Formats: sequence, C-alpha cells, structure tokens
Amino acid sequence: MNRFSLEVISFVVIVFLFGNVVAANEWVTREASIMGTTIHAEVWHEDRKLAEQMAEQVLQIMEQVNASMSPYLETSELSKINREASIVPVKVSAELFGLIADSLEYSRLTEGAFDITYASVGYLYDYRNAVRPDSAQIQAKLPGINFTHVKLNRTANSVGFSVPGVRIDLGGIAKGYAVDLAIDRARELGIKNILVSAGGDTRILGDRNGRPWIIGVRHPVDRNRVIAKIPLVNEAISTSGDYERYFDEDGVRYHHIIDPKTGDSARSVHSVTIIGPVATDTDALSTSVFVLGPKKGMELLNSLARIEGIIVDADGNLLYSNGLQTTE
Ligand code: AMP
Ligand code: MG
Repeated sequence: MNRFSLEVISFVVIVFLFGNVVAANEWVTREASIMGTTIHAEVWHEDRKLAEQMAEQVLQIMEQVNASMSPYLETSELSKINREASIVPVKVSAELFGLIADSLEYSRLTEGAFDITYASVGYLYDYRNAVRPDSAQIQAKLPGINFTHVKLNRTANSVGFSVPGVRIDLGGIAKGYAVDLAIDRARELGIKNILVSAGGDTRILGDRNGRPWIIGVRHPVDRNRVIAKIPLVNEAISTSGDYERYFDEDGVRYHHIIDPKTGDSARSVHSVTIIGPVATDTDALSTSVFVLGPKKGMELLNSLARIEGIIVDADGNLLYSNGLQTTE
C-alpha cells in the first residue's frame, strides 16, 4: 500500500493493486493543502515531464478556484457577492456564474436540501473554536436561507440577492468542481491515467497499471474499519461525513452540514458516499443526501441514472443504492 492511502485521504482509502511494480514507480504524485483541505494528484504518462506538468496544473487549478470562490478571502468573487449582492447585482466570471447556476439546479432537484444560502446562518458557526449560534440567533438569520433569494441574470452574468441578510457558500460543490476542471485539463493534455482528490472528492481517469483503482470507504465511527472496497475506472466518488469539521457539546454533534430548514446540523446520517461520472455531481449529491436523510436520500439516488451511493445512517446501519446491492 502506498504512503498516501491512509494518511492523506480522511475518508476514502485508496488501496493500490501493484500488478506491475516498475510501472507503479513511474506515477507522479503531488500533494498540497489548498481550499482548506488536502489536494492529491497521481498522474501517469509515458512522457514523465508531461505527467509532472499535469500534476503541477492540478495544484494551480485548485488555487484558482480557491481565489475565486473562497468565503475566507476578502478578494474572492464570492466575498464580493456576499458583501454587495443584496444592494446591487454583482457581475462575476462565467465560471462562478455557472457553478452558482448548477447549485440552484441541485436546490430544485433536492427540494432545498442542497442550498448554498445555508451560509446565511452557517457563517455563525466556528467548528474549530466550538462556537455556534443560539436558537434566537438562528431564528433571526434563518429567513436568509432560501435558494430562491438568489437571482441570476444570464445576459449580464450577474448575481443578486432579493432580500438582505443572504450569504452563499459553495463548500458543498466547489471541490468536486475543481476536481472536474483538473480532469478536463488532463484530457486536453492527452493524459489518460490520473487520480485527483480534493478532501472527500476524487475523480479517476483511466485505470492504474491495467487494473481498476480500489477505493476503500471508511466507517464514519470506527475509523479503522473499511466498509466497502469499490473498484473504479473513469468515475468520481465523494464522501460527506459528520466527522470532518465538528465539535461535540453535551452529547450533541455540531458539524458543517446544515439543514436549511432549521439552520442546525443535519443529524439523520453519519456519512454518505456517492459514485458517479462527474465529481461536481457526486460532491453536490453527497451533501444533498446527507441533509435529505436515509429514506428520501436513497429514493433520490435510486431515481438518478449512473449514480450509486452508500449511506451510513444515524444508527450505523449501511444502506446501499440498488446498483450496489448484490443480486441473487
Ligand atoms: P461536503 O463535505 O461536500 O458535504 O461539503 C460540506 C460543505 O458544504 C460545508 O462545509 C458547507 O460549506 C457546505 N454546506 C453545508 N450545508 C449545506 C447545504 N445544506 N447545502 C449546500 N451546501 C452546504
Ligand atoms: Mg459535497
């Protein structure tokens, strides 16, 4: 097993099958801390220089997405929206406009479970310092959560908020999006074998030395246990868990996935893993299904083509979507 498998990825374990040790040595590996998470790239190409160039580009792409979409950088386009869009529509890049439009699509698909305006309340939490809003503060800000407050103007490429007190945050979708951008770039460069990970969001192009990548999904509570080993080629996989950013207070876990209806953490599942062709989708869906809970979440997964998922519910039960269940 390679060094990166257990140390770096907090919730998926990449298990390598070394069919050909010589070829395995030729993979180029890069790692960095960007977007508040660990970025990992594994690239193979017969021209090693090209593989190295690609690995560098992965990190550059992550930096670019972060510069535009981080809520923590005052200079980001996203911060400008949050400062000004209640007053006057803010013109943004086509890239950011497109991802906000995709996010609103997900809000419609999930009947508001996925909602980037969650941040209207979400910004009051500071998980690292165990800070949370009390119920009066939540009630005061809750009217700001509603994806229909976000008004897009396609001709002007602008984003406005229809009421004051709205904030958006793309934390539930931007990492998957950045991973997809990196994979698009790899395709342009003629790279056929690459794995790109941004925290819980991973996408794979091609295989690893003629065999599938084996992705292990960790148990959200018993972190030494792998609940599933999934062979993947040309797929994306995302996990959302209540153990990523959280604090416990009086036996209650306050974590970073917020139910837009309550402004409080969603608590009907521990983790959700989604597999599908595109990381933007698996990322948005892992967050969505987490909020929807086991029943509605599984119904959604089973209604979508080419999407599969595993839910670990609040009691620790493992639930598999139809395509992952063994057939008699
Ligand atoms: P993930 O790890 O992909 O599930 O993303 C979690 C992140 O999504 C959080 O850190 C927030 O930035 C964001 N988020 C939290 N709740 C929601 C929600 N209901 N809809 C959309 N994004 C959310
Ligand atoms: Mg997500």
